[in-house]
Amino acid sequence: MKFENMNITEPVLRALKDKKYLNPTPVQEKAIPVILEGNDVLGSAQTGTGKTAAFAIPIIQSIYKTTGQQKGKAQIKALIVTPTRELAIQIDDNIREYGKYTNVKHTVIFGGVKQGRQTDKLRSGVHILTATPGRLLDLINQGFVNLSSLSIFVLDEADRMLDMGFIHDIRKLLKLLPRNRQSLFFSATMPKSIVELSSKILTHPKKIEVSPVSSTAETILQYVYYTNKSSKKDLLLHILKGIENEQVLLFSRTKHGADKIARNLKKHRINSAAIHGDKAQNNRQKVLKQFKTGEIRVLVATDIAARGIDIQKLKYVINYDIPNVAEDYVHRIGRSGRAGEDGNSISICEPEENVYVKDIEKLIKQRINVVNDNPFPQTDKPMSRAEKKEFEKEKQKRKQAFFENRKKKQGNTHSSNNYRRR
Ligand code: AMP
Repeated sequence: MKFENMNITEPVLRALKDKKYLNPTPVQEKAIPVILEGNDVLGSAQTGTGKTAAFAIPIIQSIYKTTGQQKGKAQIKALIVTPTRELAIQIDDNIREYGKYTNVKHTVIFGGVKQGRQTDKLRSGVHILTATPGRLLDLINQGFVNLSSLSIFVLDEADRMLDMGFIHDIRKLLKLLPRNRQSLFFSATMPKSIVELSSKILTHPKKIEVSPVSSTAETILQYVYYTNKSSKKDLLLHILKGIENEQVLLFSRTKHGADKIARNLKKHRINSAAIHGDKAQNNRQKVLKQFKTGEIRVLVATDIAARGIDIQKLKYVINYDIPNVAEDYVHRIGRSGRAGEDGNSISICEPEENVYVKDIEKLIKQRINVVNDNPFPQTDKPMSRAEKKEFEKEKQKRKQAFFENRKKKQGNTHSSNNYRRR
């Protein structure tokens, strides 16, 4: 199948040719005709499958063919809601690229930055609005977003949306949408809560399933190094040396951990930076740009921050820790080997994470290749159940002591402040 044979309007086709996209990916081949026919869609597809274009192309096309030609201020015809700022920006970028030969107007709104520029753009009129939930509701409440002309609603990455606690925002939003509309619902995973939510949004949807979460992209080679907790840093340096100057997206479970890893790599003269929810939006954008241009070799990310990252031809993903939720592993490694490219996933596993590898292998129904040529092999044993219990108890105690100490210190600062004020 070629895009040329899919009834795609000429200006969009031309834009796709500019990007050298000739053949649709499976999700595009399935979704584009169904969306163009006006159906609701329940799509089970991960990022990396080409799903953004799968909904963006038919949306641009239907607006171009109807209101896009009309004069007067543009009204919002399509609303795309997605959980993270990075994803929102990326979707809007894609719309800009695919719609560059049409007069379809579009913009993106997200939190964490001042709203002035966003509201100026909205005031000038747009057809397609991409938004994160919080800022969207905020600007609706302030009267900057009018959804009365809306005809297409897209909920993207629905599972991550619920994970991130946006369910109340989504419920509020649903009450504000016109009833008569086409709705497209995408989620990488389809647990019961997601299916329930989709049933409140969709009417007689066509189901599109391209890559069930348990199947990892076939083009990704997966490796695991078993090591000790104390050797992880050195092992990482060894691995990076082995893949010369290749760029790497490296995952860390925690924000604090991500910062620490990036700092340590910099100390060893490896250009790296961390990206996570505590970083300011402009910093995240800057770092992402530097990674895309190759200025940064290793981008260290948390799972949530990485969801929005779209880097073409990323060959290496490294898991500095093994995710305890097996599905997260599938999402992580899906960042490499995108749209038919080959990719490599390398996992570093300390004894306490051995069980997580087993869970992952069960989910993906596949064994991960163990690298035996490893200068830092695992010699420590995982803790027994009793040891683990003791360890957790101790950890909890230390945490409590830390917070009590902090409270005390804060108490002291307060009283000294009061004292000074007096
Ligand atoms: P997405 O799943 O939307 O994040 O897209 C994954 C990546 O595939 C993005 O970098 C897209 O630009 C790219 N892509 C989307 N559609 C195609 C296509 N038909 N041919 C080649 N690359 C594509």
